[in-house]
Amino acid sequence: MTLNNAVLEIRNHQRIKPSASDVPSAVWTGVDLFNGREINTLTTIFKTSGCWWGRLGGCTMCGFVYDSAQTPPSEADLEAQLDRALTRAAGFDEFMVKIFTSGSFLDEREIQPDVRKSILRCLGNDERIPKVLVETRPEFVKDDVMVDCMDVLGDTKFEIAIGLETSSDLIRKDSINKGFTYLDFVDAAETVKRHGATTKVYLLLKPPFLSEGEALDDMVRSVEVAAHYSDTFSINLCNVQRGTFVESLWQKGQYRPPWLWTIVEVLKRTKKAHPDTVIMSDPVGAGSKRGPHNCRKCSHEVADAIRKFSITQDVGVFDNLSCDCIELWEKVIELDDYTYGAAILD
Ligand code: SF4
Ligand SMILES: [Zn+2]
Repeated sequence: MTLNNAVLEIRNHQRIKPSASDVPSAVWTGVDLFNGREINTLTTIFKTSGCWWGRLGGCTMCGFVYDSAQTPPSEADLEAQLDRALTRAAGFDEFMVKIFTSGSFLDEREIQPDVRKSILRCLGNDERIPKVLVETRPEFVKDDVMVDCMDVLGDTKFEIAIGLETSSDLIRKDSINKGFTYLDFVDAAETVKRHGATTKVYLLLKPPFLSEGEALDDMVRSVEVAAHYSDTFSINLCNVQRGTFVESLWQKGQYRPPWLWTIVEVLKRTKKAHPDTVIMSDPVGAGSKRGPHNCRKCSHEVADAIRKFSITQDVGVFDNLSCDCIELWEKVIELDDYTYGAAILD
């Protein structure tokens, strides 16, 4: 059985809950870095027909596909989703907008070109918004699409976020089943640059079948290799989402989410090597069994330090962290290569 078929078989047993198509899948506010300073953010996950790749099986860790709409939202639905999202930023004088779709914002089957333009025009005309980020797979980053987007955004900065996950084609194919190559990403990043926009690269720490040490090395190497094409890195810590291939491994004791000590080490090493590149990580679900975790005592404190680093870019925030479990983590790094994928500790 291929990895894609294994993922698809799991997907076929899940039910997508019916939900209103004029309401986004999720909206939240937060903070990010803009021109070296902290800025409020409004993040929305638009409900669209969803990721074409995920519908055919797709990525081993991805549960976002279950957020998509059962019937494709109309133009009016998508515009209503934007209006609802913007109400959440009513109290902000200035904020950055991040748009995800559980797929690709630039895929015209999810968001038709006219709707895409009207969404970006609305954001470009809003003087409170200095920057808009949209996420997409690389195959949708084309010259004509970029021209359209830049045209309606005017002076508003534009960033394209791409889930490269790793610089290794082998890991992206055999652990993640991502369905594109490093060169596809490079093509997209060069297109983004040609049009005066910036690229944010999402990496994935510890996809399945990698030991803790291999996962650490993979992230350090990925930042090294992709730094030339990336204005910002955001390192996602693999968590166990429902209805995914990763969940099926986790239920059998064959997968453990990454240790928080591992991302601390990755951030220290990569920041030292690339002091001028923004490298961030949001430890979603930190401290839970399905999320990245150390021991119960220190997980939340270490996760807070990771969030603080992401905003300050100062590795000094890690200086005073310590816990007995760091010795266990060091042992895991040493021994995990020999367990053939079975998790050593919870
Ligand atoms: S991770 Fe992205 S590309 Fe992969 S299935 Fe999910 S939405 Fe699609
Ligand atoms: Zn601990």
